[in-house]
Amino acid sequence: MSTSLLYHAFGIRGYQYTRTDYRDGHTIFTIRQESGDCRCSACGSAQVVSRGRVERRFRSLPIGSRATFVVLPIPRVECQVCGVVRQVKVSFADARRSYTSAFERYALELGRRMTIRDVAKHLGVSWDLIKDIQKRDLSRRYAKPKLKHLRHIAIDEISIAKGHRYLTVVLDMDSGAVVFVGDGKGAKALKPFWKRLKGSKARIEAVAMDMSPAYREAASTHLPGAKIVFDRFHVMKLFNEKLSDLRRALHREATDVLQKKVLKGTRWLLLKASENLDKEKDEKKKLEEALALNKSLAVAYYLKEDLRQFWEQPGKKFGTLFLDGWIRRAESSGIKMLQQMAKTLASHRSGLLSYYDVMITSGPMEGTNNKIKTMKRQAYGFRDKEFFKLKILAIHESRYELVG
Ligand SMILES: [Zn+2]
Repeated sequence: MSTSLLYHAFGIRGYQYTRTDYRDGHTIFTIRQESGDCRCSACGSAQVVSRGRVERRFRSLPIGSRATFVVLPIPRVECQVCGVVRQVKVSFADARRSYTSAFERYALELGRRMTIRDVAKHLGVSWDLIKDIQKRDLSRRYAKPKLKHLRHIAIDEISIAKGHRYLTVVLDMDSGAVVFVGDGKGAKALKPFWKRLKGSKARIEAVAMDMSPAYREAASTHLPGAKIVFDRFHVMKLFNEKLSDLRRALHREATDVLQKKVLKGTRWLLLKASENLDKEKDEKKKLEEALALNKSLAVAYYLKEDLRQFWEQPGKKFGTLFLDGWIRRAESSGIKMLQQMAKTLASHRSGLLSYYDVMITSGPMEGTNNKIKTMKRQAYGFRDKEFFKLKILAIHESRYELVG
């Protein structure tokens, strides 16, 4: 080891190499700083009086699988300007961190290919330490995204755990980036967002959201000039929830054993888009058999598939005809769930048709939602909610492995 190797291999510059020790399988480099270079770490003044040293140990880059540490007796100085005794600044590590900046960069780099658990195991440190390194990096990069350029946004609520814990997510529909994650749901969750948006002077033209009144009122208050759009993702999500309820009710009421079994087996097939049914698994046939046994379920299913076509019309005029036709058919179906849905759509008609003015597509929302679902399956999210929120803010860049 030498002073120049310290610099070139370990990123430590401006210190002299003293010695190397090998203890407990670790390699420990001791380095020193000349007292002449000392300055006050708060005001930067060189008018300081030496007040001894305090030894600190930093985890450094490993050599192969062998952990290394850097030990530095840090000079303490009394500043003549501040009148306070302080440790001088360490150039190769952030304040109050027990690892070098080079170690931090290395851990971040590994995290782009490996899970936190794997990085921690490889480096012989705790899961929490690697998580904190990633958290600080994510916070620096994503905690406060720029909002000035926003034109089209979507607001979505996601449940993050059983027992009704929610987050509210705002998406930039032009870039697909998540620009805000708020605690809870409803108007209250968006308060910090409106505040930051106002400061950014962004001109929002359209907001996509679900048909519940909570976000709509907030959006009309804070974005009086923006169009509100009830987009395909949110409408179909609601429809699928109702369809699941209907299937569950039919299952409960069914007395026939075969019918019960068939209804149970269609749980996921009903919610799938028809073009996504798996041919190899005979999903289409299975679904058709189940629908043949349950007339009201069949009507609801086909009207669901039909409703998706609303967003595929060649323009607002055709969209209007289609929507009104769909509402009439649902009303006359004699099925309560469909009649309720017809009523909901009828009372949100202009917001549904706004789609043809601003053409907000649901792709980014679906993509983000699926990624959040993947993250949710990992328990770590709830060990540290702020970390989970930062990961959602970074989600479209897939900076780190989504899983923990
Ligand atoms: Zn000072």
